[in-house]
Amino acid sequence: MYKYAGIIVNNDSIALDKKFTYKIPEKLQNEISLGYRVYIPFGKGNRKIDGFVLDLFENYDGEINSLKEIISLCDDFPLLKESDIHLMEIITRKYLCTFLDCIKVMIPSGISKGIKKKFKYVILVQNTPTGKFSKEPYIDIYNIINSNNGIYNKNELFAKFQISISSLNTMIKYNYLSVQKVSVGRFDKRNFNFYKENKLNTAQLYVYNEIINSKEKKFLIHGITGSGKTEIYMHLVSYFMKLNKESLILVPEISLTPQMVERFKGRFGSNIAVFHSKLSDGERFDEWMRVKLGEVKVAIGARSAVFLPFNNLGLIVIDEEHEGSYKSDSNPKYNAKEIAEIRCKFEGCKLILGSATPSIETYYRASNNEIKLLEIKNRADGAELPKVNVVDMREELIKNNKSIFSGKLYYELKECLNRGEQAILFLNRRGFSTFVSCRQCGYVFKCNHCDISLTYHSEDSSLECHYCGAKQKVPNLCPKCGSKYVKYFGIGTEKVEQEIKKYIKDVRTIRMDYDSTRRKNSIETIYNIFKEKKADVLIGTQMVAKGLDFKNVTLVGVICADLSLGLPDYRSEERTFQILTQVSGRAGRGEKPGTVIIQTYNPKENSIQYSSNNNYKDFYKNEILFRKVMNYPPFSKILCINMKSYYENKLIDTIQSLGAALKNKYQNNDKLELLGPCPCSISKIKEFYRWQIIIKGNITTEIANDIKDMVFALTKNCYEDLKVSIDINPSNML
Ligand code: ADP
Ligand code: ZN
Ligand code: ZN
Repeated sequence: MYKYAGIIVNNDSIALDKKFTYKIPEKLQNEISLGYRVYIPFGKGNRKIDGFVLDLFENYDGEINSLKEIISLCDDFPLLKESDIHLMEIITRKYLCTFLDCIKVMIPSGISKGIKKKFKYVILVQNTPTGKFSKEPYIDIYNIINSNNGIYNKNELFAKFQISISSLNTMIKYNYLSVQKVSVGRFDKRNFNFYKENKLNTAQLYVYNEIINSKEKKFLIHGITGSGKTEIYMHLVSYFMKLNKESLILVPEISLTPQMVERFKGRFGSNIAVFHSKLSDGERFDEWMRVKLGEVKVAIGARSAVFLPFNNLGLIVIDEEHEGSYKSDSNPKYNAKEIAEIRCKFEGCKLILGSATPSIETYYRASNNEIKLLEIKNRADGAELPKVNVVDMREELIKNNKSIFSGKLYYELKECLNRGEQAILFLNRRGFSTFVSCRQCGYVFKCNHCDISLTYHSEDSSLECHYCGAKQKVPNLCPKCGSKYVKYFGIGTEKVEQEIKKYIKDVRTIRMDYDSTRRKNSIETIYNIFKEKKADVLIGTQMVAKGLDFKNVTLVGVICADLSLGLPDYRSEERTFQILTQVSGRAGRGEKPGTVIIQTYNPKENSIQYSSNNNYKDFYKNEILFRKVMNYPPFSKILCINMKSYYENKLIDTIQSLGAALKNKYQNNDKLELLGPCPCSISKIKEFYRWQIIIKGNITTEIANDIKDMVFALTKNCYEDLKVSIDINPSNML
């Protein structure tokens, strides 16, 4: 019999990130188990708060009399399973976060706020009233309910009709009516059009069979855009359903969800949980419960869905596995791909990573046979990949065309619209990228030490490296060609929209970017408007590049491919290759052939060349070599310590003493490289100064945790507004 529990209290303070021992009162000893949420008295005033049972034991060596007692259980069932607690131990060490951080992503946020399952009462017809009941008011009540298919919501019944509660109760008592409590789910109950099943073609069938028949557990499906990966996922889901096993489909962002949901619900019915960041607390809770109670066998969701409480999981699919959004940048700073892999190991299920442009890390693992590689080289419905034209914008400048559209793009756009087809214009922009390049020769200013683009600072018009801190003035002339057209970039979707409207009268445009999609369901609205052909041109940032399958889109224009090349990140080439290949893949997905126009100042750049020739393998070979030479992941890990504060001087003092302490401690470790301290690329956000230290190399979990301890020891007594964050292999380093 367990008499003591180790409890994590529901309080964000880092100092409280440890298990507190509580006595279990006798009345709870039979009921309690690991993972329960419980009420406990806490602190000097014995305030009643909630906490989570992560440990149970029979004996306690310490001073028993000073232990406090658990008050009661908060819920009817444990929120966490034993395997969740095991996973949590791994996560806290791997991602340097607190237990509470983990718990918060594993359970729906509404629970602690008191959100519960919702119920309603319905009145059902049992027997036709006879004898002294076959008259008013009884017969009236009976008729109302009977004519409503024999069932009526109790609250509505009273709201709409003048019915006395006592008459109703009498009828229930004599068994003419009955009352039933039913749970109401706060989830999307719309019906979707049936999404017909495609018979798998030879290439798809091969992949499918390999996955279900081979002993391997982890697979990478490298299939070109439109090769029918989604169809394979759906066949796998059916397969596991027949075995009574559950499937989890992870998609990068909500941008993909409308289409995925439409397809999955259209195929399997609405009995699918959908889980993403825009759900309300109530919806999130209900979806989580449906999974926990085994009411749904399939869930589709963004990153955090990887923690859904499945009981008998057979399959996890990670679609578009190369996407950076699988990595969280707030605590816990987990990577959903890694979590999925751990879960698959624990729960013995299959893991499928799918992409047309696998990440360098994943492909590297596949080439080392850690993951089984499965390839599909053709589009599923026999369509051709679009023809890709690379337009050299430097020549446009020579022709005195200073607009953002090349002659070629302008011409193709007009033709496309004349044919009654649709176009997607893509703006390759992330964050506030401001790098400097030459408009005549395309030269991008890079750091000599890090081979990373330098960032432009308008305050003192300087160029700065945000890995090592090297700084220089922006030269007036291009060092390569001597031209004076040295410019920094920054353009938005609105600007593109204005420009089109200047050139093409009556064009119907719609924008999909961060600003236009902040509200709930707005992505879906935009998606549907474009799908129903109520707009001719979809203009957008990263969101339009992924997954969309519109048969009437025959033109994709990339306004400026270079914008992501200039990002100060070792993955900027990879990101550019991926995004160009993905966005190109939106064109020509139906019977009509597609055209892609990539505008660039760097037509010879590897990522642009290889992408326009649909040559992933050579791109990979080049890139993996660069990673090896520069010792970037997958050959190393990168640990990023980020500090921000309102007070610049204090911030610099603190981070410099941390830098000195780290240098001192690791000076003899030749496997670690310390870069910085230096200001972050975005060196100030909302009045907060930001600085970072980057550590690169063979960072083991032990070293990472040592560093974390050092950081917290040093900043523990710091002034209040200093914020510290530690991230391993962050998805962006701005
Ligand atoms: P991917 O996810 O690889 O980009 P999709 O799964 O979106 O590709 O498939 C592209 C298109 O091909 C979709 O419209 C889909 O309905 C169709 N498709 C997929 N598999 C088949 C098949 N076996 N036969 C015919 N059409 C298919
Ligand atoms: Zn130049
Ligand atoms: Zn540098």
